Amino acid sequence: MEKICVAVRVRPSVSSESFNGAYWNVEDNRISLHRLHGTPISGLSYTFDHVFDESSTNARVYELLTKDIIHAAVDGFNGTAFAYGQTSSGKTFTMNGSETDAGIISRAVKDVFAKIQMISDREFLIRVSYLEIYNEEINDLFSVENQKLQIHESLERGIFVSGLREEIVNNAEQVLKLIELGEVNRHFGETNMNVRSSRSHTIFRMVIESKGKDTDSSGDSSSVDAIRVSVLNLVDLAGSERIAKTGADGVRLKEGKYINKSLMVLGNVINKLSEGAKQRGHIPYRDSKLTRILQPALGGNAKTSIICTIAPEEVHIEETKGTLQFASRAKRITNCAQVNEILTDAALLKRQKLEIEDLRKKLQGSHAEVLEQEILKLRNDMLKYELEREKLATELEEERKSHKERDQRIREQQMKIDNLSNLVSFSDLDRNSNQGQDSARQSLKEECSESSVHQGDAFSTPCFKADPKAFVVKRSNYSTLPDYSPLPDTFSNVADEDTWQKMNKGYMADLESLQMTPARKFQSFPSNDITPACSNDNFKQEVQQLKRQLEIATEDKNELERKHAEQIMLNHQLMDEISELQQEAKLIQEIPQRLSESVGNCKDVYEDILSIVQSFVSDGESSTAKLLSSTSEIGKSLFTTLETHFSMAMDDRSSSTGNNFLIQEQCKVLYEKLNSTITSLVLSETPSSENEEVRVQVCSCGNKGCTQGGETACWKEELSNELNTIKERYYGLEKELDHNNQLLVVSKERYDILEREFRLLKEDRDLLHQMVSDSSQKLSLVTDQKENVLKDLNTEVQRRKNLEEEIKQFSVAFASRQRSLISFHSDIKSNCEKLRTQCLVSLPKSRGC
Ligand code: ADP
Ligand code: MG
Repeated sequence: MEKICVAVRVRPSVSSESFNGAYWNVEDNRISLHRLHGTPISGLSYTFDHVFDESSTNARVYELLTKDIIHAAVDGFNGTAFAYGQTSSGKTFTMNGSETDAGIISRAVKDVFAKIQMISDREFLIRVSYLEIYNEEINDLFSVENQKLQIHESLERGIFVSGLREEIVNNAEQVLKLIELGEVNRHFGETNMNVRSSRSHTIFRMVIESKGKDTDSSGDSSSVDAIRVSVLNLVDLAGSERIAKTGADGVRLKEGKYINKSLMVLGNVINKLSEGAKQRGHIPYRDSKLTRILQPALGGNAKTSIICTIAPEEVHIEETKGTLQFASRAKRITNCAQVNEILTDAALLKRQKLEIEDLRKKLQGSHAEVLEQEILKLRNDMLKYELEREKLATELEEERKSHKERDQRIREQQMKIDNLSNLVSFSDLDRNSNQGQDSARQSLKEECSESSVHQGDAFSTPCFKADPKAFVVKRSNYSTLPDYSPLPDTFSNVADEDTWQKMNKGYMADLESLQMTPARKFQSFPSNDITPACSNDNFKQEVQQLKRQLEIATEDKNELERKHAEQIMLNHQLMDEISELQQEAKLIQEIPQRLSESVGNCKDVYEDILSIVQSFVSDGESSTAKLLSSTSEIGKSLFTTLETHFSMAMDDRSSSTGNNFLIQEQCKVLYEKLNSTITSLVLSETPSSENEEVRVQVCSCGNKGCTQGGETACWKEELSNELNTIKERYYGLEKELDHNNQLLVVSKERYDILEREFRLLKEDRDLLHQMVSDSSQKLSLVTDQKENVLKDLNTEVQRRKNLEEEIKQFSVAFASRQRSLISFHSDIKSNCEKLRTQCLVSLPKSRGC
């Protein structure tokens, strides 16, 4: 267990005003607020691991505060250094430095590589990333198109930002160049406090992996299998300005709120952590992205240092107090850092080992620089491939989740439909008329199913026609992708021994070796042997062929891109349609509500009619009154049943079959009651001896002087009229419900089809993605080949020219030699002639003597 190392740094004062009331006094590792005349103000004195005064340099801050953490990171400990403080207090100056005084980040980067150089018994793999958190959104500073990235957590990788670009690097200059590029993408704004104040939190991250070098000649690497992986975070926080003080408004105000919120969460986390393990309870890491990313650094396995920067001016005293209080709390946090050794395939170094070893063998004997470049390139390619795969896996996971949710919603809707159908089928009063309805419903169903099939066809796309099993097979292949990053197929076509030799020799630019260039052994080249004599023509041919291949590959790529765009459009359309269907489903969900309202209205009408009818029956004991009251009871309980059912349907509670059973039972009882009432009504039509008493009443039919028999008949007629109206209304409602159910079924089917289609399209899109990336790889390979061949061609042409030049010179020399030979020959001839004539003259002379 070790405490977080906390330091305070005072920035040089920028205002020429002298202090009027108080000033911050720095003495050793203590900072305290003093009155103008030197006496300290009680309660405002703080001690930290280090306090750096205005004259301190970044070099000193690095040496005392951060260096140990950086060295520990190389040894396998996680490390984090971050700068906290109000705007314009010097956080960015400390982390990024100035032209004359390099900041902590660049010093750390240089130090890491210097330390690695000194460790000869381990090999290292370093990758870097750079992100900013702006308005609670994570953006990649190495790649502007990577915006709004998500944080994920996995057993193997812990907490990580999905889709963040990581770059494998092998020297400090490379890293510094990347940071420079990243800085351009940072969000800056202008506030009164600081003209170029940083408005986002930035996290520069180095992942250092290392493993012992395999010195065992037998190749048994088990003893050195453990790989150390450490993460180094260098964090520059945005300032915690008070909004009123900065004069921020609009966008700046919104930024300020986000900044303050995340810093507040950071403060809360620090508070909780400083409370000690027992009282701690829940720590709100998840309340902000900053604390979530820094979670391991703040309360776990990391060596951490915080530099709290303060502004010395009197106007900032309140902010400074806040910063010092934050620093005091942070000082109480303890972390437990340990070397991270892993034996699984989680380490990139391990996953890449085989490929790198392979490449190393192939490049053996070549120039060290070339070897390093090739290895770095391969590593970066493999990393990119892995990151891409990881991103796709995350997308797939999210897609699966949303798919599950949709399934759940469909199931719920299906249950509602089932309940409504149950209600309808059990509340049928007239079985006979029901038969007619059933047949009508059947025909409607058939119509609907026909139309749904038709719609299914209308929505189908060419890929939908593919055998569904094909996708299943593909998906299973996809799910069994190996954990390591395999070389693309096309790459293995050319990465043979000869090719690597050629690549090496290519660097030597040797004409002799060029003649032996085994590039013609490429599968994509004609395999006929080419001798240097006819090489020029063949080169031309090869170039032509390569050009053609290039064109074809480009066409392929364009075609794939076009298809991809089309698929995206289709996806959009499908998404629109799905949202329309969801709207429809929503409307259908409202049906029980509307039905319940209609039932309520019917109930009112029914009650009105009953009360009118009852007002005409003065004698509560008469059989008509009894019948009336039992009818009223039946009607009321019927309506109550209906209302209960609809309200349950609306509350989603009617899904249990028990409830349905009760309602069905109730319906049955009501149905029987109603039947018996009607029967008794019919029976009462026959005048009995008890009813012979003649009473002159005003019956609702308006006929004065009706006898009781006549009166009953009138009542009966009226009641049956009412009943008929109610029945009709009921059937009307039932029909409506039925129709809506049908619609719901059709919508569901359509939804299912769309869903299936969408899934297939997604798989297609993934395939197309794969194809596009394959063909771009092919394209780049072909381009490389073409460039090599062009280079060869140029050299050959140059060689030819040289030869022609030599031949010319030789011809000139030959001609002059020939000329001199001819003149020599003629000289000799004339000399011979002369000699001969001299001989002929001297001979007769001598004979004559
Ligand atoms: P912050 O990142 O905290 O908002 P900056 O680092 O941008 O603040 O600092 C604000 C200004 O103060 C910058 O112009 C910076 O150069 C200057 N500054 C900060 N700290 C120092 C220091 N220790 N020495 C010299 N100049 C400093
Ligand atoms: Mg800053």
